[in-house]
Amino acid sequence: MNRGISILDTGIEYLKGVGPSRGETLKKELQIFTFRDLLLQYPYRYVDKTQFTRIGDISPENTDVQIKGILRRVETLGDGNKKRLVATIRDESGVMDLVWFQGVNWIEKTLQIGGEYVAYGRANEFNGSFNIPHPEMEQLLPDMEKTASLTFAPVYPSTEKLNLKGMDAKFRRRLMQDLLDKLTDDDLAEMLPPDLVEKLRLPSHSEGVRQIHFPKNEEELKSARNRLKFEELFFLQLKILQSKKKRKNATRGFVFGTIGDFFNTFYHEHLPFQLTNAQKRVLKEIRRDFSTGVQMNRLLQGDVGSGKTIVAFMSMLMAIDNGFQASLMAPTEILAQQHYAGISEFAEKIGLKVVFLSGQVKGKKRKEVLEQLKTGEAHIVIGTHALIEDTVEFKNIGLSITDEQHRFGVEQRAKLWRKNPDGAPHILVMTATPIPRTLAMTLYGDLDVSVIDELPPGRKEIRTVHRTEAHRLRVFGFMKEEITKGRQIYVVYPLIEESEKLDLKNLMEGFESLSREFPVPNYQISIVHGKMKAADKDFEMQRFIKKETQIMVATTVIEVGVNVPNSTVMVIENTERFGLSQLHQLRGRVGRGGEQSYCILMSSYKLSTDARERIKTMCETTDGFKISEADLRLRGPGNIEGTQQSGVLNLRIADLSTDGHILQSAREIASDILDSDPGLQQPHHAGLFKKMAEMGGQNKIWSRIS
Ligand code: ADP
Ligand code: MG
Repeated sequence: MNRGISILDTGIEYLKGVGPSRGETLKKELQIFTFRDLLLQYPYRYVDKTQFTRIGDISPENTDVQIKGILRRVETLGDGNKKRLVATIRDESGVMDLVWFQGVNWIEKTLQIGGEYVAYGRANEFNGSFNIPHPEMEQLLPDMEKTASLTFAPVYPSTEKLNLKGMDAKFRRRLMQDLLDKLTDDDLAEMLPPDLVEKLRLPSHSEGVRQIHFPKNEEELKSARNRLKFEELFFLQLKILQSKKKRKNATRGFVFGTIGDFFNTFYHEHLPFQLTNAQKRVLKEIRRDFSTGVQMNRLLQGDVGSGKTIVAFMSMLMAIDNGFQASLMAPTEILAQQHYAGISEFAEKIGLKVVFLSGQVKGKKRKEVLEQLKTGEAHIVIGTHALIEDTVEFKNIGLSITDEQHRFGVEQRAKLWRKNPDGAPHILVMTATPIPRTLAMTLYGDLDVSVIDELPPGRKEIRTVHRTEAHRLRVFGFMKEEITKGRQIYVVYPLIEESEKLDLKNLMEGFESLSREFPVPNYQISIVHGKMKAADKDFEMQRFIKKETQIMVATTVIEVGVNVPNSTVMVIENTERFGLSQLHQLRGRVGRGGEQSYCILMSSYKLSTDARERIKTMCETTDGFKISEADLRLRGPGNIEGTQQSGVLNLRIADLSTDGHILQSAREIASDILDSDPGLQQPHHAGLFKKMAEMGGQNKIWSRIS
């Protein structure tokens, strides 16, 4: 059947009981335009009519509750802003209050004193007893229809407007039941290959959809959920892998066939340390890409300090050995300069010419650099996004590397592709923001991913502690001890857009109190924040890098990449206001030399559960991947850095933070299918072919560099 004529495309107003007015509300409030939209809005929970909490059993450990009782009293208290509605509900074990602060008038109208109700919500402790603010309410009527017999009644997302239009929980259930009754199994046709459904023992698509709305029991719910999650992740992976295959077939790449003198000389005579196994593995992966004749598009993930730079440099050598040039682009002037300094040192030893380019390289110098790139006299260029300007031309660029990927936009990176008229250079993107595997598979699904998951030997684990204001003097004392040993210290304050003024005030106050505690001439303090001019920031940073100052007070501008191996202490103020990945990045600024380093997380005494969890995670582990998994768990995929721009995470039912194993198997199966039948032309793949066509332009993968 064509998409165009499926009953599922029928406008929602044509469903029995809806009509134009309610239809309008469903469209406006819940973006439900068609039967399909309604069908795909799965319940977010189920009222399990066998499971009630007795009011007397509610305790601080048990606050997520569903209670059943009789409404005893309903009254409005207070007025104006303070107006609230309080209802009292009683079961055989006790009484408790239900409280509303909003929609007081209309909720009052819907409540019936003496009626039997199910109230669902999170109980709060107040003055020694519990109440539930804004509970979901459902009245149990003696003449309960169809749905009353359900053990598991679905609960759908709703809004006040929906309720006002008479589309309450029960109405929504009936609507869904009516829709499902209308649909035949052909309307809910299976798209997965039959042999796969059988092999995985999945319910059919039709069964899955019906059961997710009205499961008979826990088991049925579980298997329906599993089926729909698998299907969702599977189709997504199939789409991603298919476009990756297409790209690989379409984009020719330069072949770097030989490992030549530059690489060999450097490797055998100048490598300052032994490569870690992870570094060797990644270099092999890159080398393999260079030999295939297909353009490389590789993401290199490695925690701060894992040694990505040397991998980048040695990849450049492979390009140069084959007559090509290479570039490395960093997101800030300081980072670019640090790379330039580090890589020049390596390159000098083997007689390679490295040049630097940023907005600050001007006039005659700029002309000279541009000329050297054009003639091929320069083998390597390192710089900021000045590198992608049209005036920058190469003799023959073969490899473009960018560091700290999430700071660059997609379009910016795309420009790198056009720098060689003979073909697209190979692309290596390096990031120090570890992304959980499940996210990487989805977000960067059509990039190849390499991971450096091992730190160079001899690093001492950074000791991380949590401290509050009460420890302030001892923290100062500790800082002094470290400075006496010749070490340097960062003190970081949050700076979040909305409260910029207040944050700046905090920073300045912190700076002043540090200045009193660490007075000149014995101590020198640098300060860097977002309101400063770039040149002033650079100046202060350079003072710290040159060890002229011992303390660097900063907002999060130092987050990315800065390398001052002599700093051993990272003090983070208002830790509760930072996200996990940010904290991890900040901590990565210390522990870069051979000395024992410390991270001190300062916070107020009172903390939210989430903040406490974040701080605990930081104190327990320094493993970036573990931290990113925790971040994913705490905040959900939509909040992980880089994902907001991506449409691929609008998942209906699968949850990347918990369904990693389903994703993994979905990806493997999708990959096998594409290997055996790349065009999905085999008869039993007809459903897949059709589904892929339907998905068409959806799910654009933002990370595609093309
Ligand atoms: P990042 O991945 O954060 O960019 P870098 O490339 O800056 O890390 O490396 C961090 C430090 O570790 C540098 O001083 C570098 O010289 C050193 N390093 C890198 N690889 C090794 C290794 N295999 N053994 C010892 N030190 C290494
Ligand atoms: Mg780096």
